[in-house]
Amino acid sequence: MQVDLLGKTTVITGGSSGIGLAAAKLFLSCGAQVAICGRNEERLQSAGDILGEPAGDRLLLHQADVLDAADMKIFATCVKNRFGGTDMLVNNAGQGRVSTFADTSDDAWHEEFTLKHFGVIYPTRAFLPMLEHASAPSIVCMNSLLAVQPEPHMVATSSARAGLLNLVHSLAKELAPKGIRVNSILLGLVESGQWRRRYEEANPSGQSFEEWIREVARTKNITL
Ligand code: NDP
Repeated sequence: MQVDLLGKTTVITGGSSGIGLAAAKLFLSCGAQVAICGRNEERLQSAGDILGEPAGDRLLLHQADVLDAADMKIFATCVKNRFGGTDMLVNNAGQGRVSTFADTSDDAWHEEFTLKHFGVIYPTRAFLPMLEHASAPSIVCMNSLLAVQPEPHMVATSSARAGLLNLVHSLAKELAPKGIRVNSILLGLVESGQWRRRYEEANPSGQSFEEWIREVARTKNITL
């Protein structure tokens, strides 16, 4: 099935790697105009290379941190100047934190709650005025199954993810009268830059990425 998104614009935070990059590719293949942001300029440029020619002037790459409210305002202005507005916002930027209650410091707790909440609050606030003018606007927030199935080795992420799920429910209710659809996607395990980095950090001797990730899946009771 091919969805026709010609003339539509989508903004994807954290579009330079993994799920965000794959989403950007998909939206572009459906004809949409796509704006992505990320903090690392090099990663953004190589995402631009991957998305390549077919994207042409339908792709906007912008260096910005979702945790910086001013950055998000500038990003929104750039999108407005380039595409005239946006129809969709995908709040995707972020990563998980592997730590138990015993080894999570106060700073780590603060960082995790800040990332999971303000990583959605700042971009949503910045793009809301444009979404309010779109004909069928939507906001999608990437979340995790951890929001409803906490895992003790990711205690802070699980807790913060539950908070985000709660926030998304409130946003969905508050924005419904304006016709803005708000949804979460609760992800399980998706191969991405994040998991490649975890594999490199774990550095399991003699194990390939495929063997290691299969073992991770088994510990999560994912049988296939
Ligand atoms: P990746 O690490 O592959 O990609 C993350 C993207 O987010 C990168 O483009 C990164 O670019 C960007 N990013 C991270 N922090 C910021 C920031 N503060 N401001 C702007 N951009 C940022 O991760 P995934 O594709 O795996 O993850 C995407 C989302 O899905 C995340 O929110 C993650 O927590 C969630 N998720 C993923 C799961 C999985 O199994 N993959 C499971 C559950 C949830 P840069 O570093 O250059 O800023």
